[in-house]
Amino acid sequence: MASGRHFLQIPGPTNVPDRILRAIDAPTIDHRGPAFRDLAGAVLEGSKAIFQTSGPVVIFPASGTGAWEAALVNTLSAGDRVVMFETGHFATLWRDLAERLGLAPEFIEDDWRGPVDAGAIEARLAEDRAHEIKAVCVVHNETSTGVASDIAAVRRAIDAAGHPALLMVDTISSLGSIDYRHEEWGVDVTVGGSQKGLMLPPGLSFNAVSEKALRASETSGLPCAYWDWRGMLGANAQNMFPYTPATNLLFGLREAIEMLQEEGLANVFARHDRHAAATRAAVQAWGLEVLCREPTAYSSSLTAVLLPDGHDADAFRAATLERFDMSLGNGLGRLAGKVFRIGHLGDFNDLMLMGTLAGVEMGLGLAGVPRQSGGVARAMDVLTAD
Ligand SMILES: *Cc1c(COP(=O)(O)O)cnc(C)c1O
Repeated sequence: MASGRHFLQIPGPTNVPDRILRAIDAPTIDHRGPAFRDLAGAVLEGSKAIFQTSGPVVIFPASGTGAWEAALVNTLSAGDRVVMFETGHFATLWRDLAERLGLAPEFIEDDWRGPVDAGAIEARLAEDRAHEIKAVCVVHNETSTGVASDIAAVRRAIDAAGHPALLMVDTISSLGSIDYRHEEWGVDVTVGGSQKGLMLPPGLSFNAVSEKALRASETSGLPCAYWDWRGMLGANAQNMFPYTPATNLLFGLREAIEMLQEEGLANVFARHDRHAAATRAAVQAWGLEVLCREPTAYSSSLTAVLLPDGHDADAFRAATLERFDMSLGNGLGRLAGKVFRIGHLGDFNDLMLMGTLAGVEMGLGLAGVPRQSGGVARAMDVLTAD
């Protein structure tokens, strides 16, 4: 049994701050009573600020995958064509889910090292004169690669093609960490999850919904029961839920929203940018390669690092866990064994980052991965430069 705190530096689930643990640690209340209505009112209203929208945010007791499914089944019909962009593993999983639901996803393929190519989406939509494509689905921050995409540019691409497709965006690992504006960027459905930037345990997921998406839900044909927005929104209007909500996680959500508001979203985003920059400085000093090949698309919530050929990232991660009690993210899908991922999101500060980077620098050495020393020192320079 290790002494001291475990370092949970995977890009979600993230460290849950004591304030949120204390908020969750309460007797479960009657979800049809007056105390619950105050809680529901606070989280339904407060979530809007986090998504930067004035429209409704639906909260499901589910992992993020549930909110992916909800976005699709509320708005689309069997056989509908959907354009998706292959940013990495999570985009691929969402594509697979769309296929299993009976949709016809068209995947714009890419090499898992760059952001969404808005130009490719515009070209694809421009060819679709009959408007058979019903939605464009993209991942804002691709957690398997550490690449963040420009969602406003995707909106502009859809508009430039004069196409009516809905825009759906997965923000599970960016919400509350990287600037994201549901309303200003004209997104129709935003998918969120509790266990990353929102600093909560897993178990809640979200759909922020535009008026256009609500209209689409009136004529959509896919079977939709548990995920039905209309039942949810009808009950939410009375600060109620149509089935038993995850009450104690909602206590935590109320606290998380308060914490993000106290710090100020702009400061939260700047903190993540700064920690990401310090992490990349360390990676560069070690002589290793960041997986993201476009500096304008670096993720501020995690960094995926390529190991030199012939070195197994999972052996390095196992050594780091064993020796320093630190969990780092693994390579997912085709990146298995080739990369490790450093999560620097959520409830996090300078010294937690330094502990993390020291663990990586020592772990690389112990695992026999060729690297230069001095990464930790470079990161300290970045953190003390401002
Ligand atoms: C974590 C994550 C998911 C998956 O969410 P689950 O809660 O595991 O269902 C989906 N998309 C992205 C971008 C993620 O980071």
